[in-house]
Amino acid sequence: MDVDQKPPVTMDGIVALAKRRGFIYPGSDIYGGLANTWDFGPLGVEIKQNIKNAWWRYFVHQRADVVGIDGGILLHPKVWEASGHISEFFDPMIDCRNCRSRYRADTLVEEKLDRKAEGLSTRELTEILQEANLACPVCGERSWTEVRQFNLMFQTHLGPIEESGTKVFLRPETAQNIFVNYKNVTQTTRVKVPFGIAQIGKAFRNEITPGNFIFRVLELEQMEIEYFIRDSEWESTFQHWLDAMAEFYDWIGLRRDRLRVREHETDELSHYSKRTVDYEYQFPFGWKELSGLAYRTDFDLRQHQEHSGVDLTYYDQANEERFLPHVIEPTMGVERLLLTLILDAYNEESVTDVNGKPYERTVLKLHPRIAPYKAAVLPLSKKPELSGKAMEIVRDLRQDIVVEYDETQSIGRRYRRQDEIGTPFCVTVDFESLDDNAVTVRDRDSMEQERIPIAELRQHLHDRLNQ
Ligand code: ATP
Repeated sequence: MDVDQKPPVTMDGIVALAKRRGFIYPGSDIYGGLANTWDFGPLGVEIKQNIKNAWWRYFVHQRADVVGIDGGILLHPKVWEASGHISEFFDPMIDCRNCRSRYRADTLVEEKLDRKAEGLSTRELTEILQEANLACPVCGERSWTEVRQFNLMFQTHLGPIEESGTKVFLRPETAQNIFVNYKNVTQTTRVKVPFGIAQIGKAFRNEITPGNFIFRVLELEQMEIEYFIRDSEWESTFQHWLDAMAEFYDWIGLRRDRLRVREHETDELSHYSKRTVDYEYQFPFGWKELSGLAYRTDFDLRQHQEHSGVDLTYYDQANEERFLPHVIEPTMGVERLLLTLILDAYNEESVTDVNGKPYERTVLKLHPRIAPYKAAVLPLSKKPELSGKAMEIVRDLRQDIVVEYDETQSIGRRYRRQDEIGTPFCVTVDFESLDDNAVTVRDRDSMEQERIPIAELRQHLHDRLNQ
C-alpha cells in the first residue's frame, strides 16, 4: 500500500466529521441549538466511555494506592467559601460597547497581542488593552468597557421557593467532593498516606468565551485525583504524576510530538497552588492546555478544617505522628481529551487499493482502547446465506468487543466509512467463507488483509486489539 499524507486537519473539518458520523451534535439541535452546548452521539458516547474506562483502569484499578468515589454535583455552599471559589473563581471579562460581543480579557490579550496574560489584574488588563487600542474582532470598533471580574459558578436554589431557598452552586470542579470525603475514606478503608482518591464527574463553568468546538464547554466532565502525601514528599510525587500522565497518554495512543509540558509562572498560579504544570497539545488553534498537574499544598484540607470545625489531620500509627496531608492533583477533562484524540488520530491519505486503484481516504487512527467500534463485520452481499453467517460471527464477537454490522453499499464504501470512524478491523464474509469457514480481516492502518479461520477469529482480534 502506498500512502501519501496530507496536512493536519482544520477545526471545521473535525466539526463536520463529528456531526456527519454521529460523534457530536450541537446541543438542542432541532431548536436551533443552545450556544456552546454539545451532545454526544452513538460514536461519541462510546469514545467518552472508553476514555473514562481507560483512565479509571490506569489510575485506579492498576494501582494499589488509589481508590475512587462518586460525589454529588450539589455541595454545601460553605464548601465553596472554604475552597475560595466564591472569592477567587473569577475570569476577567470585557465587552465591546458597539456590538456587545463579550470576551475574556486575558484571552483577548494573549490571542490578539501575543503576550501572556493569565493571572493579570483587571487594572493591568484594562491598561494593556487601552494602550494597544485594539479593534473588536467582530465589529472593528474600538470602544471597550472596563475589564470586570465575573464569577464562573452556575447558581441555583434548593427548595421550592427561590427567595427563601438556599443558594447553591453546581460544582465548578470535582476536587472539592474529594476533600470533603477525605475523612470518610480514611476512616472506612485501609488507605495509608501516601494515597489517592479518584473521581470522574461533571463540573459546570459559566465560561465567558467558550468555543473551539468542545475545547471549552460549559458542562464538562473531569477526571481528577487528589493524592495525599507528607509535605516533604511533594517534589518526587509531583514528578511521579507528571510521568504517569505522559505514560497514560502513550497507553491511549496520543502522540508525544504534539504534546509539551508548560510550567506556570508564579503570577498565574491559582490561589491554592505552589506549582502547576500543564500538558499542552498543539491544537489547530495553537498550543493550549490539555491537562494540569498542581501541588495544592494543604490549602484545601486546612480551609475545610477551619470552616467545618472538623479535625482533618491524619494519624500515622507507625510513626505516632499527626499531620495535615499535602496534595498533588493530576486533572484532565474528558471532552478536551476526546477532541485531542480525534485531532491526533485524524489523517487524510491518498492510497491505492489491493487492485492498484488510487483513492482518497480519511482515517481516524484511534488506539483500539479508544476506538468506538473494535471491529465491523461486513458480508460481501446481502444474500441470506452470507448475512446469516456474518450475524453468527457478530453474535460471537459481541461476547468480547463492540462490533458493528453493516451490509449496505459497496464493500469499498463500507471500508471507507469504517476508516473514517476509526474501526481498527473490518471482517469481510464472502462466498468462499461458506466453504472454507474463514474470513478476511483488514487492518485499518496498513490496509493489509489476512485470511483467518472463523473458529480463531475471536482470539485473533483479542490478541491484536491488545486491550
Ligand atoms: P483553562 O485555563 O483552560 O480555563 P483551567 O486551568 O481552569 O483551564 P482546570 O481547572 O485545571 O482548568 O481544569 C482541569 C482540566 O479540565 C483542564 O486541564 C481541562 O482538560 C479541563 N477543562 C477545564 N475547563 C474546561 C472547559 N470549560 N471545557 C472543557 N474542559 C475543561
